[in-house]
Amino acid sequence: MTTSGTTQRYVDIPRAPSEERAVQERLHDFQEIAARFSEEEARRQASRCEQCGVPYCHVYCPLHNNIPDWLRLTAEGRFEEAYRLAESTNNLPEICGRICPQDRLCEAKWACTLEQAGHGTVTIGAVEQFLGDLAFEKGWARPRIPRVERQHHVGIVGAGPAGLAAAEELRARGYAVTLYDRHRLPGGLLRFGIPGFKLEKPAIARRGQLVLDAGARFIGGFALGRDATLAELASRHDAILLALGAYRANRPALPGAGEGTLIDGLTYLLASMQEPGAALPDGVDVERLDARGRRVIVIGGGDTAMDCVRTALRQGCLGVACLYRRGELDRSGSRRELNKAQAEGVQVLWQTEIESYFPNTVTMVEAAVGSCGVDEGGRLVVRRSNANGYKVEQRTIDTDMTISATGSQPELPAAYGADGLITTENGVVKVDPETGATNLPGVFAAGDLSRGPSLAVWAIRDGRAVAACIHRYLCADAVAAPRKKIVREALATLTPASAE
Ligand code: FAD
Ligand code: SF4
Repeated sequence: MTTSGTTQRYVDIPRAPSEERAVQERLHDFQEIAARFSEEEARRQASRCEQCGVPYCHVYCPLHNNIPDWLRLTAEGRFEEAYRLAESTNNLPEICGRICPQDRLCEAKWACTLEQAGHGTVTIGAVEQFLGDLAFEKGWARPRIPRVERQHHVGIVGAGPAGLAAAEELRARGYAVTLYDRHRLPGGLLRFGIPGFKLEKPAIARRGQLVLDAGARFIGGFALGRDATLAELASRHDAILLALGAYRANRPALPGAGEGTLIDGLTYLLASMQEPGAALPDGVDVERLDARGRRVIVIGGGDTAMDCVRTALRQGCLGVACLYRRGELDRSGSRRELNKAQAEGVQVLWQTEIESYFPNTVTMVEAAVGSCGVDEGGRLVVRRSNANGYKVEQRTIDTDMTISATGSQPELPAAYGADGLITTENGVVKVDPETGATNLPGVFAAGDLSRGPSLAVWAIRDGRAVAACIHRYLCADAVAAPRKKIVREALATLTPASAE
């Protein structure tokens, strides 16, 4: 595509991200904090794109979205065409527009030339969200009903972004698809993990509905391992995709008496949503998980920790502190999410290790950056000895509620009735990186289950890629099956003597 007067306008038009609601207003509810672009704003911001010959935004987007092309179409007011292009590579464009950490992906310094040149990155995510939301309003987002139905049936366990993307792609190719999930509604962590102030639930509900309207069947309230083993499920389908996510919480090794009272961050977020259809873990006391009127400590410095502190603020906690054992620059989460949490009044105590933990008091040691050691990966570590200039301060704070948000891993296969499934040393399901195939014939895996806790956009990428591989696998089967049948029938007619 060549450029025209509708693009490269970054010199006259400054970067203007979507407007955020004032802190005092947004802390009173769980609604999204960012407004959607108007048509005029979307056109203006899209027109800033430089239309680079080699667009690194496209390279650094895990889905390799054709970003400059749909920005240009948006700048020209050709919104439906822009949406068609966006949806051709992304099953959940307006969701990614909302929750991708763009500052580490398509809008990073290394991805957007304008950012490097000091003009401020193009607001790619906000335009993508605008296009997807507009598509629902205008009726352009439609179920992908296949023209021809195929005979093969695929069972997908896990209706998060990986499972949903795979289901949509397989349905579009004509396969019969059944999605199973322990929650009663599809969406995975997008519906039952990420708080509404980042992603309002109707946005994921309507995407899930599109997949069902395309003809996929959804069986909620079904837990693999409890309601069927993998072998039983495999006997009902021609191929199985496992997209179960990563729900085994890492427990920090805390010296002290109160480990049993530590609250798992994901359970806390799930309970806080009160989302219909959620399958809460057995024995969860929702009342105990309400931060209203309580002093809260959150352990961890990633995006889940930020979601927990921001949820506690919205629930009306008395105060919340976030403790992170490493330095501010060492965290892997999004800088923008941290900025939002800090703007809302969250205090993060960096380089802080817990010394002892009792249900209502936490004693910790803190170190200034200059008084820390460095590990082999170059990240700050708190050293307790005073040798080599290391220095720590001890402090104790009172708490009524301590939440652990220190990451998670996939469940072990035995927990979901999949004995025989091989995992890697990191605890994720081992797959062929080219095909997503596991060691069990006809069983594939995708998303956080085979990648480890990651991002929605990577789960979508996995779901799309594995759907293409399942299609190839089943096509090969479709070709081979009649031949096998002929050979079997021919063999059956042979007498042992003539067979020799
Ligand atoms: P999931 O979304 O976890 O879906 C797995 C599904 O499998 C779930 O519905 C689950 O109920 C189901 N399941 C599990 N076990 C069983 C079983 N035995 N039987 C039946 N069903 C089962 N990513 C971003 O890009 N941006 C963000 O801002 C962001 N924020 C996050 C905030 C939090 C608090 C968390 C925890 C994650 C966040 N992520 C974010 C990460 C993102 O949500 C995940 O990477 C993504 O959802 C993984 O998709 P998935 O389909 O692999 O798994
Ligand atoms: Fe950027 Fe995510 Fe959209 Fe890719 S999917 S263009 S990384 S917001």
